[in-house]
Amino acid sequence: MRLRAHNLLCIQGFVGKGYSPEFVANMKLVVGGLRGTTEVTVLDEPDSLCAKCPNLKANGCTLHGEGTEKGIVAQDRDVLARLGLRAGETVTWGAILERIRANVRPDDLDDICGSCPWLPLGHCRSSMYGARHTSMNGGPGARLHCTEPDTLQ
Ligand code: SF4
Repeated sequence: MRLRAHNLLCIQGFVGKGYSPEFVANMKLVVGGLRGTTEVTVLDEPDSLCAKCPNLKANGCTLHGEGTEKGIVAQDRDVLARLGLRAGETVTWGAILERIRANVRPDDLDDICGSCPWLPLGHCRSSMYGARHTSMNGGPGARLHCTEPDTLQ
């Protein structure tokens, strides 16, 4: 599995919504397939999720128009630094979840995510608060705090 670093956090807040039906179907497939032992290569470039995203063009992500990719790469590198990982490194999904739990706090998302349109919806932040709880009560699952897709609005 190839995932760009900021998407490691996006996955935590995924509630079955996305940029297009094809994007959502792929995201469900990717997120649903993650296990603690799944090997993930962390990237600072378009990944397995971007592959089905309507915002992906030849020059990378265009979510906020031309030039978006540069900012997204910076976001990826910020997340990599916080998690103590290097672009191109392969680690298990379980190890990634532990690094997120140890190194990313809910309020960090304001600095990391910038103008991401999903941040104000609150799903990502609440998944992080959930992680604080589950880290005390359980081991790594598919996500830090598992909410069933389609059950939240
Ligand atoms: S192309 Fe951009 S908006 Fe789409 S998943 Fe990748 S980073 Fe996110």
